Amino acid sequence: MAQFDTVILNGTIVDGTRTPRFQGSVGIKDGAIAVISREVLPAATASQVVDAQGLIVAPGFIDLHTHYDAQIQWDPYATLSGWHGVTSLVVGNCGFGFAPVRPEERDRAMLSMSRVESIPFESMKAGMLWDWITFPEWLSTLERIPKGVNVLSYVPVGPLMIWVMGLEAAKSRRPTKSEIAEMCRLLNDALDAGGCGWSTQRLGDGFMSVQRDYDGTPMVTDMMGDEECLAFAEVLRQRGSTGHIQITQAKDDIHRDMAFVEKLAEVSGCPVLFNAIQVNNYHPHQHRRLMDWIEAAQARGNQVYGQAITVGNDLTYTFEDFNLLDGVDIWREVTLGTVAERKAKMLNEDNRAALRDHYDHGRMPITTGPVREFIVLDTAKPENKTCVGKSIAQLGEMTGKHPIDALVDLVVDEELQTTIFTPPFNTDAELNGELMQSEYTVPGVSDGGAHTKFITLGRYTTDFITDFCRDHQNVSLEEAHYRLSALPAKMAGFRDRGLLKEGMPADVVVYDLENLRSTPPEVAFDFPASEWRRIQKAEGYRWIFVNGEATFIDGECTHKTPGRLLRHGTA
Ligand SMILES: [Zn+2]
Repeated sequence: MAQFDTVILNGTIVDGTRTPRFQGSVGIKDGAIAVISREVLPAATASQVVDAQGLIVAPGFIDLHTHYDAQIQWDPYATLSGWHGVTSLVVGNCGFGFAPVRPEERDRAMLSMSRVESIPFESMKAGMLWDWITFPEWLSTLERIPKGVNVLSYVPVGPLMIWVMGLEAAKSRRPTKSEIAEMCRLLNDALDAGGCGWSTQRLGDGFMSVQRDYDGTPMVTDMMGDEECLAFAEVLRQRGSTGHIQITQAKDDIHRDMAFVEKLAEVSGCPVLFNAIQVNNYHPHQHRRLMDWIEAAQARGNQVYGQAITVGNDLTYTFEDFNLLDGVDIWREVTLGTVAERKAKMLNEDNRAALRDHYDHGRMPITTGPVREFIVLDTAKPENKTCVGKSIAQLGEMTGKHPIDALVDLVVDEELQTTIFTPPFNTDAELNGELMQSEYTVPGVSDGGAHTKFITLGRYTTDFITDFCRDHQNVSLEEAHYRLSALPAKMAGFRDRGLLKEGMPADVVVYDLENLRSTPPEVAFDFPASEWRRIQKAEGYRWIFVNGEATFIDGECTHKTPGRLLRHGTA
């Protein structure tokens, strides 16, 4: 009998601890790392031999911010993430999810998710199993379905609030003391079952509220009060400060947001993962202020971590289904409803006047950057091809119209099929380097499984290595692997993942640093109900192992599903 199931020979090992890289071999047995050796292990001792000469051998990546709750049910590899070396990920972010949900409220829950996270409704309807009601039952489903990645789940507080109060009440009034107590009881049950903490999005109901419900109203979590948030933090404290909190909070007063998020860390005694920190090329004080706060909070003993967006924040979309202008009242108004309804609203002269007024005098939408800089990436009609490559400002000059009229006339003429690109505004490499100067910033808001027709941030793991490390040398390779695996594992309370270490499960990536890259964006028709999404694949990953089994070899899926549900506290 072979001593190992697999040996990875002669690789350059970067183990995630920030120990300097070294040449060595890894022996895998029964899904775990049996040995890491600076000596060459004899190939004869293994059933499978991976020649890693010239390749990097590193821990699989851990992605803490995803919305694969629906997609994992039809895509065991949670792509893009599975393609990009992610071996463990967390679902249930931002307070959104599907448990607990009563059977009669399932359609409404999917409608919410079709806008707030822009997951196609028909895909969810066709692809979700819906064989659970409670959160513990949902975890059982997650445990049972085939997975090519390991999965944890937050307890998203939105469904808890709706379950206890009802959707309308949860949006329009504060919970009573007994309702809060009932939510805390359900939260405890969910954490007992293996939830890794709880999550919420608090964006209020104003300009910062860019991720809204199906009907344009804020999500229930956006309207939740400090009192219930603190009660949920207290639940973690009473459980011995186990688990952690993920919070996306940005209302109109950043100082108040920072103070409150830190308060959650203080009350819970747990790590709080704050979303999100990103560079704004034009306003470097924005990320510096947040980073100074995180350092100060940590110095005060409050475990605040920042989740950093480290890839370009550009968007590619059509007005057929775009939602990320929802913080601007008039843009939200004209981008709600069916294509026919949106078109009618865009043709309405009062709406036009309001759009022009926003263009001329309004605040810059926070997710897209200024409307004048949007670019027509492609047109549906051949006769409109002269518009391709033009910014909205240029479109105005070209047509002699107000830029808003030039834009809206074009997209209405094309039945909202015009493809728009919003240029990234977080691209300054030097500023991006500053994001990694804190010990407490975790790269990665992949938003995997969400906004599937607009973004491909799931490539962040690959791009962090190529852009931050290989091309700009903002971080060393040792630091990059620490940030992509060990730090998120430590922060999120994983017991035995995030490193290459003897005895740990063998979640391993073997890749060619020189030739690593994300492939160009493309459209894939691979979602249920014939729906499409934007994707970017990866090149350069030679082997990706999850629990000792290869899931991808040279980008080809092996169709093995070694991923596990990781119940918090036991895995
Ligand atoms: Zn999210």
